[in-house]
Amino acid sequence: MINPLMFGHDGSGMAAASSAADAARATAAAGSAKRDVTNLEDRIERLSLVCMAMWSLIQDKTQLTEEDLLERVKMIDLMDGQEDGKASRSIQKCRACNRVMSPRHRKCLYCGEKKLAQSAFDAI
Ligand SMILES: [Zn+2]
Repeated sequence: MINPLMFGHDGSGMAAASSAADAARATAAAGSAKRDVTNLEDRIERLSLVCMAMWSLIQDKTQLTEEDLLERVKMIDLMDGQEDGKASRSIQKCRACNRVMSPRHRKCLYCGEKKLAQSAFDAI
């Protein structure tokens, strides 16, 4: 049989208090996650606005067309072998230990060797 005292449920209201505290923590976590999503949506909107402004300037100053842009987007999308609408980063091996390096880290997780930037986007 399970001992209710092991879990803080002694039948005298502790279980209710614990449940209320759990609910309060879950509500706070949900509120924090919602704020994070809102912040990310705001950042994406700002980035989209800047991209649109840059593309508008490029069109004004060059002969490039929407078809040129769409063709280049498709070409870059396919650089990782998949047309998935994402610009995946290429897999890079550590020059010191030859293990695969995480695209999310600036150093090798195994030996600490600093990753060489292959493009300006690697620094992001
Ligand atoms: Zn390494």
